[in-house]
Amino acid sequence: MDFEYDAKTEDYRKRLLAFMDEHVYPAEPTYHTDGWEPPAALEGLKAAAKEAGLWNLFLPGDHGAGLTNLQYAPLAEITGRSPAIAPAALNCAAPDTGNMEVLADFGTDEQKERWLKPLLAGEIRSAFAMTEPQVASSDATNIGTRIDRDGDDYVINGRKFYISGAMNPNCKIFIVMGKTDVDAPRHLQQSQILVPRDTPGLTIERGMTVLGYTDGDHGGHAEMIFENVRVPATNLIGQEGGGFAISQARLGPGRIHHCMRLIGMAERALELMCTRALVRTPFGKPLAEQGVIQDWIAESRVRIEQARLLVLKAAWLMDTVGNRGAHTEIQSIKIVVPSTVEWIVDKAIQTHGAAGLGQDFPLAGLFASARMLRLADGPDEVHKRSLAHRELKRYRSHS
Ligand SMILES: Cc1cc2nc3c(=O)[nH]c(=O)nc-3n(C[C@H](O)[C@H](O)[C@H](O)COP(=O)(O)OP(=O)(O)OC[C@H]3O[C@@H](n4cnc5c(N)ncnc54)[C@H](O)[C@@H]3O)c2cc1C
Repeated sequence: MDFEYDAKTEDYRKRLLAFMDEHVYPAEPTYHTDGWEPPAALEGLKAAAKEAGLWNLFLPGDHGAGLTNLQYAPLAEITGRSPAIAPAALNCAAPDTGNMEVLADFGTDEQKERWLKPLLAGEIRSAFAMTEPQVASSDATNIGTRIDRDGDDYVINGRKFYISGAMNPNCKIFIVMGKTDVDAPRHLQQSQILVPRDTPGLTIERGMTVLGYTDGDHGGHAEMIFENVRVPATNLIGQEGGGFAISQARLGPGRIHHCMRLIGMAERALELMCTRALVRTPFGKPLAEQGVIQDWIAESRVRIEQARLLVLKAAWLMDTVGNRGAHTEIQSIKIVVPSTVEWIVDKAIQTHGAAGLGQDFPLAGLFASARMLRLADGPDEVHKRSLAHRELKRYRSHS
């Protein structure tokens, strides 16, 4: 087993680390926004990333940098150290990455020309609209939005919420999941369709916060309504009834990207925990000399190494046996990494005292990111349920 990164990965790592030092960390103190729109500084950062050849690193094949998952993993980890800035600066931020993958894999030539091209160029942003306030959306077969065929068009009616990026006015295209045939078998009722932002009947109703944050630095999450929204039938992605399968395809890479970035968040939190513990001295000795803090530091290091190894194994499996073959490992990392990182960030916050919750350190934002990833892209319990079903299946035939 070879634990070294290859030469190409090392080269990218070196350049990305330099980019973080030169552009990303200096932007952090002034980057935040109280509103819903991304800070103006983002466009300058994108130009610098393009110039440095650090662009679309997430996308395998001809459209992107052509890296494998194993090559991209350590790079995404570095961007996770500043999760509100670096992924967007490199055009590697969710949900656009998943949307670009869907368009690259399932889009028609016309759809690629109209939407994939400007997304790859970083000219526009996009969103993926599946979750609905009225139904338990962790079971995607529950969703009620209708996509009805009417002549050469489809007509969409429904309500969605927590649609990431939708508050960003530059989010020009939505991939919407809804039902085209309620009488079909459960997993063949759904389809995905492209809806441009300016289509009549589409209303962005309100922004949705995350632990009080607007998440405006990556565009903000929205509740939105579709009322008799009419788009040409050519906007359908893939076949009618293929929506569920497309969702499954997009979520594999999306989940591992989140987990890769989470490892970087944990490294940042541990770094801050250690530096703070060395300089704060309550009761006559530095925090770093207190057993409880040393326990948190040691536990954090061990947990990061465990999590990273599992993420890298999942990445390697995706490259070698494909996303389906890596199903158990992708679910495993989605279960273990956000809660592990949440624990580490929590300990870093505690080590900082009051300042850990405030604006002088990135810890509160890191906590919100880790916490929300125990829900977004599927709650922990749903992944555990599915993993347990697969594990039990191996034994059911014997009983
Ligand atoms: C910050 C953020 C961004 C998001 N971005 C998007 C986006 O861009 N697009 C989009 O479509 N959606 C998005 N979501 C929505 C997210 O995918 C859903 O919240 C998630 O799938 C859960 O659906 P739900 O909220 O309807 O929870 P529900 O389905 O109502 O479930 C509630 C809880 O029930 C529990 N539960 C569910 N099933 C089981 C089970 N089998 N056993 C035990 N417990 C169970 C879980 O703890 C779960 O959290 C986002 C969410 C957040 C928080």
